[in-house]
Amino acid sequence: MRLVDVRELPLDGIESTADGGLRIGATVTNSDLAAHPEVRRRYPALAQAVLAGASGQLRNMATVGGNLLQRTRCGYFTDLSKPCNKRAPGTGCSAVEGEHHNHAILGATEHCVAIHPSDMAVALAAFDAVVTYESADGTGQLPLAAFYLPVGDTPHLETALPAGALITGVILPPAPVAAHSRYRKVRERASYAFAIGSITGALDVRDGVVREVRLAFGPSRPGRGGTGGRAGPDRGARRTPRRSPPPRSAELAAARPLPHNAYKVTLLRNLVVALLTELTEEAAR
Ligand SMILES: Cc1cc2nc3c(=O)[nH]c(=O)nc-3n(C[C@H](O)[C@H](O)[C@H](O)COP(=O)(O)OP(=O)(O)OC[C@H]3O[C@@H](n4cnc5c(N)ncnc54)[C@H](O)[C@@H]3O)c2cc1C
Ligand code: SF4
Repeated sequence: MRLVDVRELPLDGIESTADGGLRIGATVTNSDLAAHPEVRRRYPALAQAVLAGASGQLRNMATVGGNLLQRTRCGYFTDLSKPCNKRAPGTGCSAVEGEHHNHAILGATEHCVAIHPSDMAVALAAFDAVVTYESADGTGQLPLAAFYLPVGDTPHLETALPAGALITGVILPPAPVAAHSRYRKVRERASYAFAIGSITGALDVRDGVVREVRLAFGPSRPGRGGTGGRAGPDRGARRTPRRSPPPRSAELAAARPLPHNAYKVTLLRNLVVALLTELTEEAAR
């Protein structure tokens, strides 16, 4: 095995694209990403999501490419004495019958209920980010919704990246609604902990009418059936801070909780209400 340090590659820039989006290099550190003025102004939930992850020291070292490709924290995945379909396909999933109170309720199957721990990916999913890469066959792009493969019965296959490909960056398309966005993360202690539930929300309300709304949930495998699907109240619905109709989410309706993580359905629903209330109040100011 050969270890290659990609951090010296010239992929550490953040620049505006001609259409008003942002291009973020793969080796941009999490700290630099969260501190960048254009990220904070145009996609504030992304900056908040990154700052909610890990610790200051880790964020100074972690990169965009590495954060997207980090592996699950499921304890059975690293416990060689226990069956795990992700580590050893076809052996079974120890978490389904065992310890799963922190495991995924979205995008999970009976073959694997592991979460993907990236906070950043939840915000990127809400903003329709596109991952760019270079492989032996040339350059390519994958929308985040297609970057992470559905879990299905092949949890060991995590991304659609070609073998040996190098992530070169992430493109954020222009999204005016993203300027009115927030990230909320619930964890078991106030800092330096992975999410047990998280949400990115963006809301564009003008003259009391919802023009656009986006919601993405975590933690789960981002993408189809995970955080990539976006849901929320109807566009055109009249919203006031005090009289918001209960939000509907097809994605939450499709949650597949297990006995010890069913609490997450309520937790995510409450996060939706809290976040939309905050964003609505902000819009009314
Ligand atoms: C204790 C701890 C707590 C954490 N808490 C959180 C948290 O709460 N939220 C959160 O989102 N994250 C969290 N993280 C993850 C952390 O923020 C990093 O993103 C993660 O550890 C990956 O580190 P890295 O970026 O240095 O990537 P590496 O560890 O260097 O790489 C990870 C993988 O990606 C591959 N890779 C890296 N760059 C590229 C590229 N450009 N192209 C192709 N492949 C590439 C590597 O080969 C490797 O397989 C935590 C990590 C730790 C250790
Ligand atoms: S949840 Fe996934 S990673 Fe964890 S034991 Fe089951 S198959 Fe393995």
